[in-house]
Amino acid sequence: MATAAADISDGASNESDNYKEDGDNNPTPSQSSSNEQSTEPKPVCLIVLGMAGSGKTTFVQRLTAYLHSKKSPPYVINLDPAVHEVPFPANIDIRDTVNYKEVMKQYGLGPNGGIVTSLNLFATRFDQVMKFIEKKQSNHQYVLIDTPGQIEVFTWSASGTIITEALASSFPCVVIYVMDTSRSVNPVTFMSNMLYACSILYKTKLPFIVAMNKTDIIDHSFAVEWMQDFEVFQDALNQETSYVSNLTRSMSLVLDEFYTNLRVVGVSAVTGSGLDELFVHVADAAKEYETEYRPEYERLHRELAEAQNQKQQEQLERLRKDMGAVSMETAVPTDLGGPSDLIFNRGNPDEDEEDVDSDTDDIDHTVTEESKEAGAFSTFLKERKDIVQVRNRKSN
Ligand code: GDP
Ligand code: MG
Repeated sequence: MATAAADISDGASNESDNYKEDGDNNPTPSQSSSNEQSTEPKPVCLIVLGMAGSGKTTFVQRLTAYLHSKKSPPYVINLDPAVHEVPFPANIDIRDTVNYKEVMKQYGLGPNGGIVTSLNLFATRFDQVMKFIEKKQSNHQYVLIDTPGQIEVFTWSASGTIITEALASSFPCVVIYVMDTSRSVNPVTFMSNMLYACSILYKTKLPFIVAMNKTDIIDHSFAVEWMQDFEVFQDALNQETSYVSNLTRSMSLVLDEFYTNLRVVGVSAVTGSGLDELFVHVADAAKEYETEYRPEYERLHRELAEAQNQKQQEQLERLRKDMGAVSMETAVPTDLGGPSDLIFNRGNPDEDEEDVDSDTDDIDHTVTEESKEAGAFSTFLKERKDIVQVRNRKSN
C-alpha cells in the first residue's frame, strides 16, 4: 500500500507557474468557512467523459488554454492513472497519489484491473480532493476533470460513482461527453456512441453536453441532421445491410426522445473551434443543475440523513437494552454521520453498515466498562450512605 498510494497533494503551486495563477496560494476568507453555505458562486465542475481516443485529454488541454486566455484559469484534475504524459498543468494528478504500475504488481493485475484499483484507492481519499477544491473555490470559475481512457472504468465503477456524487453534492456539475465525429460517420457506430451517451445521462442524471470533437477532420453537421431528422437517419440506415440495422432502427426510435433536449456542439480539441459555443451551453447546463439536479439531490440527502438517523437510534436502543440500566450518557458518540459519511454511504450501503457496527463495537469495549464501573460505584456509595443513616437513626 505504502508504495502504491500516497497522500493526495495539490500541485497548483509548482505546476501551473507558466500559467501564473495569481494569488492561488494566498489564504482566502472562504478557507475558514468552507462548510458554510456561501452566497458567492461556486466553480462549475466539467466532468469530461468519452470513449478511448475520442480526444478527452486533448480537449481538457484545449479548454485549459482557452480559459487561461479568457483570464479565468481553471482548476484541473487528472483522474487517468495510466496516462504517460499529462499535457496540461494539473492541480491534482492521480499519478501523484497512486502508482499504477506498483498497483498492478502488488495486486497481480492486468492494465484494466490496475486502472480500476488505482481509481478505487484514489476514491477512498477523495474527501481530501474536495477540501482542496473548496479551499480554492473563490479563485476558479471552472474545475476540469479528465477521466481514464476507457470510459467504463469511470462510468460503471463504484469509485467513478463516488467521485461524481461527491463533486455533485458540493458543486454545480456538468458532464461533457466527447465524441470522435470522424469515427461516427457510420450510422450504426454513431448510434452505439449515442446509446452510450444516453446511458451515462441516465446513470449520472447530471446536465449533459455532447461535444462532437475532431471537426477539423469532418464537419459534424451530418450528425446533427441525423439527430434532428429521423427520416434522414433512416435513409442512412437503409444503406446498411447488416442484421444490426434492424435493431438500430428500433433503437433510433428510443433515442429520438433523448435527442430532443440534448445540447450538442461541434468542437475541435486541436484547433480550438467551437469553444465559445460550448461555454454558452455550459452556462445553460449549470443553470439546469441549480434548478433540477440540486433540489432532487437535497431531497435524497434529507431522506438519507433521516434513514441514517433512524438506524442510529435503533442501534442506540439496542445498545441500551444490552447494557441494562447502566447510564449511557458518556458512551454516546455525538458526531456520528458527519458530512463526509454521505458520499461513501451512498456509494456503498453495505460498507455503511459495517462502519456503524464497528463504531458501536468501540463503545462496548472501552467507554462502557468505565461507565459501568462508575455507575456501580456510585450506587454502592449511595447504598452505604443509606445503611449508615438508617443505623445512626436506630442507634439514636
Ligand atoms: P483520450 O483517450 O480520449 O484522452 O484521447 P486523446 O486526447 O489522447 O486523443 C486521442 C488522439 O486523438 C490523439 O492522437 C489526438 O491527437 C487526437 N485528437 C484529439 N482531439 C482531436 C481533434 O480535435 N482533431 C484531431 N484531428 N485529432 C484529435
Ligand atoms: Mg486521455
